[in-house]
Amino acid sequence: MRIYGLTGGIGSGKSTVAKIFEACGIPVLYADLLARDAIAPGTEGLREVLAVFTTDVLDADGALDRRRLAQLIFNDSSAKRRLEAIIHPRVQEQFVRRTSALAAAGVEAMIYEVPILFERDLDPIFTAIMLVCSPEHERVRRVAARDGVSPREVRDRMHNQLPDEQKRARATYVIENDAGIDKLRERVRALALELFGVDSPAAREPAGD
Ligand code: ADP
Repeated sequence: MRIYGLTGGIGSGKSTVAKIFEACGIPVLYADLLARDAIAPGTEGLREVLAVFTTDVLDADGALDRRRLAQLIFNDSSAKRRLEAIIHPRVQEQFVRRTSALAAAGVEAMIYEVPILFERDLDPIFTAIMLVCSPEHERVRRVAARDGVSPREVRDRMHNQLPDEQKRARATYVIENDAGIDKLRERVRALALELFGVDSPAAREPAGD
């Protein structure tokens, strides 16, 4: 089975692109969702996280307060490594399980959306890599609006990711998200046709966030 990586910096529009591909009928697996499942309520993963982080990281519903956790590890690389050691093997295991199931079901090509694909040197596992790029000021504005955070916080998060110049050099396809949604949809559908052979005149519009 061909597996295409889909990545891009925070706010580049990769989830929007993933939804357009899904609307074209292409299976998409999301690393963020696998990571969330790895430490969902009742899991061994969550128990391990709670054993590491003595500070209260649960919300009122007993689920992990991801924002609080993100704040705790932001300037603590050792805590970050310990958290990753809990999450990453579980994500990897689920990735193998899900892709194997799709391959067994006869799926020939799919997409894996991974925000930190290059940062984690995952290049070799993919048939090819698609990178979504947007101007930095647009990314800051969109994420601040999407997540209700300050532009400063968005820029801080961006600094933990590789700059686009380095990512462009490693990507097979670059999807420029520098215009409106209609233009983006047009570009993604052209790529869906080129890579997956699907044409989608009747594809439903991608749902909003
Ligand atoms: P990422 O997954 O890369 O963090 P998203 O796909 O969530 O980024 O996009 C960030 C925000 O910007 C979302 O609210 C999305 O709806 C919006 N957005 C993405 N691309 C465009 C575009 N071309 N025009 C207008 N808004 C966009």
